[in-house]
Amino acid sequence: MPIDPAGGAGNPVTDALEEVLRRAAEVQSGAVADYIPELALIDPELLAISATSVLGHQYSAGSSEAEFTIQSISKPFVYALALADLGVEEVHSHVGFEPSGEPFNAISLDPAGRPANPLINAGAIVTSALIDAPTPQARFERIRSVLSAFAGRELQLDERVYASESETGHRNRALGHLTLAAGALPRGVADATEVYFQQCALLVTAADLAMMGATLANAGVNPVTNVEVVTSEVARQTLSLMTSCGMYDRAGEWAFRVGMPAKSGVGGGIVAVKPGQFGVGVFSPRLDEAGNSARGTRALTLLSQEFELNLLEHHHAPASPIQELAVTASGGMTVSLRGEIDFIAVEQLVHDVREAAGGDPADASSITIDLTAVTRVGLAAARLLTAAAAGRSAWGSTVQVVDPSHLLAVALTG
Ligand code: GLU
Repeated sequence: MPIDPAGGAGNPVTDALEEVLRRAAEVQSGAVADYIPELALIDPELLAISATSVLGHQYSAGSSEAEFTIQSISKPFVYALALADLGVEEVHSHVGFEPSGEPFNAISLDPAGRPANPLINAGAIVTSALIDAPTPQARFERIRSVLSAFAGRELQLDERVYASESETGHRNRALGHLTLAAGALPRGVADATEVYFQQCALLVTAADLAMMGATLANAGVNPVTNVEVVTSEVARQTLSLMTSCGMYDRAGEWAFRVGMPAKSGVGGGIVAVKPGQFGVGVFSPRLDEAGNSARGTRALTLLSQEFELNLLEHHHAPASPIQELAVTASGGMTVSLRGEIDFIAVEQLVHDVREAAGGDPADASSITIDLTAVTRVGLAAARLLTAAAAGRSAWGSTVQVVDPSHLLAVALTG
């Protein structure tokens, strides 16, 4: 896939990524995972970062085309597929919603025997087994094809890493047996764990992770291929779990320092998402004690702090949605709105109209809300404006909406 030519050196976004990588490279701590023997063979110095915007623009620094196994980063994407197949109620009758606060391979089962969440091993083995297909091979192919759709290219299996984990993955088989005993695992242990080991051994690059994250950031639509991989609802649900459970037993500190929904894997990758803006992929194989890439964590911490990416960042007062508020000769009022209209913009509109009418908008015999300079109306705002226009508002006056681009209808019909 061609890298956007705008994203080369000299581009301020690429330069910022280069600088983040340079500072992340100062981290010397951590060790490559070796409990899956084949993982220990990777070059520990590989380092990469990529970002893909929801418009499909790609930026990279370092070894962004170096391949490594996706490992646990497969979990949120397979969870998304399970949600798409079965819906929230069915999936979550098998697996919980809560961060475990324990290592990735812990025996985190609730009193009913359900794994704490779908992003730790016990939960991911169950989630993977929920995917419907006639044979294990067909199930892996479904998983591979959906993860490939997220990435926008065909992902391949690393047979050696798969075989290595299959030979040594006794703890995961034990988790399979425990979930089977509790009634949470919907099929046999060998069947479930082999497909799980295969999904973990899919090869990706930092650029792939950025694209997969960008697809979640873009409400489930891959921003380059334009394929709707999952619905916007499933993308949001997946990001919710990544926010609370994505970083093993460091999810709390991650929310505090980075504040982006994310998922890491013992192969050294991390995917992080800024909803509505972009996906980021980082790769560096040395892991900290929690199993998260040490340099990758530093890179995303720096990126978040320098570019104000924390989910809970307060982005200061938005520009007023009111372009002009004029009282007409007949005592009516015309309010011209501009830009993006969301719930809080309508709240401000209602407040300002009341104030202009001396506290009682019923005094304004008619109110015209002009959307000509508006670029988009959100769903909540559209509902409120429609209610106002239908005369169900507390305003008392007749409300007329001028909407030449039919933005209300677009918002209300999706
Ligand atoms: N395949 C690995 C395992 O189950 C994934 C672990 C991880 O990346 O956290 O042990």
